[in-house]
Amino acid sequence: MSEDWKSILKKSITRPEQILERFKVDIEPIKAVAEKYPMFVSRYYFNLIEEVDDPIWKQCIPSPLELQDPYGYEDPLNEEGDSPVPGLVHRYPDRVLMCVSNSCATYCRFCTRKRKVGKPAINFTDEIYLAQIQYVRENPSIRDVLLSGGDPFMLPDEKIEFLLKKLRAIPHVEILRIGSRVPCTLPQRITPRLCRMLKKYHPLYVNVHFEHPREITDEAERACGLLADAGIPLGNQSVLLRGVNDDPDVMKSLVQKLLKIRVRPYYLFQMDLVKGTYHFRTRVEVGLKILENLIGKTSGLAVPRFVIDAPGGGGKIPLQPEYVLSMDDEKVVLRNYEGNIYVYPQIPRGGEEIPSTPRFHQPYAQLRG
Ligand SMILES: *Cc1c(COP(=O)(O)O)cnc(C)c1O
Ligand code: SF4
Repeated sequence: MSEDWKSILKKSITRPEQILERFKVDIEPIKAVAEKYPMFVSRYYFNLIEEVDDPIWKQCIPSPLELQDPYGYEDPLNEEGDSPVPGLVHRYPDRVLMCVSNSCATYCRFCTRKRKVGKPAINFTDEIYLAQIQYVRENPSIRDVLLSGGDPFMLPDEKIEFLLKKLRAIPHVEILRIGSRVPCTLPQRITPRLCRMLKKYHPLYVNVHFEHPREITDEAERACGLLADAGIPLGNQSVLLRGVNDDPDVMKSLVQKLLKIRVRPYYLFQMDLVKGTYHFRTRVEVGLKILENLIGKTSGLAVPRFVIDAPGGGGKIPLQPEYVLSMDDEKVVLRNYEGNIYVYPQIPRGGEEIPSTPRFHQPYAQLRG
């Protein structure tokens, strides 16, 4: 067994001076940024950096561009506005997002909750947890509770179990979910002991958060394997980041590697309009192009859903390249992943009966547009 996660955390990079241990850069601008938006990088994740400004560096080392963002909002999804109890966001009819932790194993420079990262607005006490759980208990429409943060896996095993046990005891809560970047930024945190505890609370789903193929290491594979062996279905949420993964080949490599470590790509997020993250934003066409390069060209299992979390708080809205060219009473005209045109004949409107003129008995050639 490799080094204990708590000792690894103690060696985290929290002061810009520590960057000099490995890289010769001017740290003055980095310091200025870190004062506004704190820096915290696990030793493990720091070691994944190969050179200045590479895709790992960009995700975790403060950039002067963060202070030059002319646009952006502190709370672009208006999560505070949809929060009936501290830390709990109730936006959709049947599920809630429950923030239960302030800390993360590495602070991502592009975080949607950048306003909170390293600057806890809520001090998570048992009283707060109990208020959140009480809200879930009092709302029978909630059948899905998603623990997020910060990172729930930064809590001690006992605290995670306290939450899972109380939520599991609520009859209308059907599924539990945990969102965590720990398998990517501090995989040593995923221990057999943690997994033995988690598996008592099935059905439990875990969504992990990988952005770049270089994050799929042997350690990450071990962490995801332990979770998967505990019977936990794993999904991945990526954010589309300029200069990190905004490239069809990089993304294809990432999603294929994820499947190899037993993680199913779930969401690809268009960047939220977070203050201080303008330099990570891509045009929406970039994401559509990435999907075009996946759909039909690699395993369907590898294709995430590309979404924009609606600014102001409308929830996640899926986007997809256009495969339906036209649709009328008679037929749907489609294109496939290679650009070939196909016709799918419709059954007559309101017609449960088989039509007397057989429109399905056409040679294949005529089905091609
Ligand atoms: C993303 C999110 C969820 C979960 O959404 P799914 O599409 O079911 O994964 C729930 N609540 C909030 C507020 C969210 O942002
Ligand atoms: S781990 Fe998640 S919550 Fe924490 S900084 Fe990264 S994106 Fe934000």
